Amino acid sequence: MSQGTENKVVVITGASSGLGEATAHHLAERGASVVLGARRSDRIAALAEELAAKGYRAKAVQTDVTDQHQVKKLVDTAVNAFGRIDVMLNNAGLMPLAPLERLKVDEWDRMIDVNIKGVLYGIAAALPHMKAQKSGHIINVSSVYGHVVDPGATVYCATKFAVRALSEGLRKEVKPYNIRTTIISPGAVNTELLEHISEKDIQAGAKAFVGKIAVSADTFARTVAFAVNEPDDVDINEILFRPTAQP
Ligand code: NDP
Repeated sequence: MSQGTENKVVVITGASSGLGEATAHHLAERGASVVLGARRSDRIAALAEELAAKGYRAKAVQTDVTDQHQVKKLVDTAVNAFGRIDVMLNNAGLMPLAPLERLKVDEWDRMIDVNIKGVLYGIAAALPHMKAQKSGHIINVSSVYGHVVDPGATVYCATKFAVRALSEGLRKEVKPYNIRTTIISPGAVNTELLEHISEKDIQAGAKAFVGKIAVSADTFARTVAFAVNEPDDVDINEILFRPTAQP
C-alpha cells in the first residue's frame, strides 16, 4: 500500500453532499482515486465529472447503503476500476431529530438502517478485499453524539454510539490483516444534515443553534486526510472535534 493519500483508492458513501462531497474533493486533489456512492446519482455523477475534468480519478456508483448488494457493487466497482481498495469511508447518515414521545418510528427505522446497518454493509463489502490485500483502512463516521446524549437526539445518539462500538470491535478483530480502523466524531458542521428533520420546531431550533457555530465540511475532510496520511504502522483510532464555540 502506498503511503499518504497519493494513489490510494478511497470509497466514500454519502458522497453527494456535505462531509462526503468535501472529502471527495480534498482527497482527489491530493492524488487519491475516489469512488463515490449515494442515492442521488445526478449529484455524484456531476461531482465525478467535475473531478475528472480537473485531471483527477473519480467514479460514481448509485448506492443505497441500506441494500447490502448495492454497497458490495460500489466496492467491487472500485476494485475492478482501480485494482484495490485502500480506504472505506462509511459516511452516509441522517439525523431526523425528535423526542421519543413523538413516536417517529419510521425515522427510528431509517436511522438504524442507514447509520448502523449501512456502516456494517460497508464493512462487509470492504473486508474481504482488505483481508486478501493484507492492508486497508476502514473509517466510520460517528459524532459528538456518539459520546453524549441530548433530549430529542436519543435514537440518533444510539446509532452513533453503535458506530463507535462496532468500530472498536472491528479494530480488535482485524489486527491479523494489517487493517487500520478510525472513528471520526464530528461536532457541528455546515451540511444538509438538518434538512432531514421533519419536526419543524425541532428543525428551527437546531438550525438556529448550528447555523451560528458550524464549521465548514472541509474541516472533516482534513481529519480524514490526517488519519489516512499517517504511516501504515500508525492507526489513528478516533478523532473527535467540535467547533470551538460548541459546548
Ligand atoms: P448530508 O445530509 O449533507 O449528507 C448525508 C449523505 O448521506 C448524503 O450524501 C446522502 O446521499 C447520504 N445518504 C443518506 N441516506 C443514504 C442511503 N440510504 N444510501 C446512501 N447514502 C445515503 O449530511 P452530512 O454530510 O453532515 O452527514 C454525513 C455524516 O456525518 C452522517 O453520518 C452524519 O450523521 C455525520 N455527522 C454530521 C455532523 C454535522 O454536523 N454535519 C456531525 C456529526 C456527524 P443521498 O441522499 O444522495 O443518498
